[in-house]
Amino acid sequence: REAILSVRDVSRTYATKDRSRLFGKQYVQAVRGVSFDVYKGDSLGIVGESGCGKSSLSRLLSRLEEPDSGKILFKGQDVGGLRGTALLNLRRGFQLLLQDPYNSIPSHLTIGRTVAEPLIIHGGRSKAEIREKVAETMAEVGLGPELAHSLPVGLSAGQRQRVNIARAMVLEPELLILDETLSALDQVEQAKLLGLFEKLQVRHGMTYIYISHDLGMVRRVCSRVAVMYLGRVVELAGNGTTFFNPGHPYTRALLSAVPAIEHRPYDAATYLLEGEPPNPINIPPGCSFRTRCPFAFGRCAKDEPTLLARGSGDLAACHLAEGGMPAPGMSPAGLH
Ligand code: SF4
Ligand code: MG
Repeated sequence: REAILSVRDVSRTYATKDRSRLFGKQYVQAVRGVSFDVYKGDSLGIVGESGCGKSSLSRLLSRLEEPDSGKILFKGQDVGGLRGTALLNLRRGFQLLLQDPYNSIPSHLTIGRTVAEPLIIHGGRSKAEIREKVAETMAEVGLGPELAHSLPVGLSAGQRQRVNIARAMVLEPELLILDETLSALDQVEQAKLLGLFEKLQVRHGMTYIYISHDLGMVRRVCSRVAVMYLGRVVELAGNGTTFFNPGHPYTRALLSAVPAIEHRPYDAATYLLEGEPPNPINIPPGCSFRTRCPFAFGRCAKDEPTLLARGSGDLAACHLAEGGMPAPGMSPAGLH
């Protein structure tokens, strides 16, 4: 399969801000050696608790920020060195959609003008061509033609998000990065927009990255899932493996917190995720999940597990997954 986006060993550290200089600077390792591919026409979910590095990763993927090390390739091209027109051209290819539909739409511009904005910036089209493309795109995302002449005041959150989607789609991108894009919407609006994304996928072969805390949604729409913990991808697997036969104890723990996922062939019933992740300023050696892992054993404190293929080609970073996960029903150490 053709990778449209390849992420290779990407890391990013942030310095904590303390203008008063009362305390020394500290460094948060937000993203640590992350690698994965996103295939054309596919949907990849990126999940994990807040603070796991999902949002930092989304800023790196959408080139709002640069990684400290590692590479991001879009259709085989390293996006790192691009500036000016080259960057602008690349930007057409992938678009980021964020959660908040309220701050992102200018209140003083007509909706048509807002949707036209990227076309104006990129240039090369006549006014008539721009009007035509805007009308076509608005229709495609379910915004009535009369809205082209209206201000956004009074639009529902769902309609606002459609304006954002139109503004992204008008450039005919191949990849949409959806960073908690639907989180602020109610269930009905969410379902409608998921239907829209699916339609765009069928019609234009769109590729999606869903960055979300909503495992139920990711299960419905993503064929592959990356699970992040403390800045690392700890499991990268197909939908079936992630939700029915996960290789990492953290994935199991996340799933057991989702009541909507009922069918679990493995024994996760009593396995609850407790406590908080360690401070990302001071990540413990060995496996970073070991402070919360009921399966932890001696080696986990010393060696950091790397992402290794399990039988099916799915990847998990756990010493136990190297030899296969414990059989269903086996008690984790310390949970009896
Ligand atoms: Fe748990 Fe050890 Fe696996 Fe880490 S490596 S997830 S501590 S069993
Ligand atoms: Mg976040």
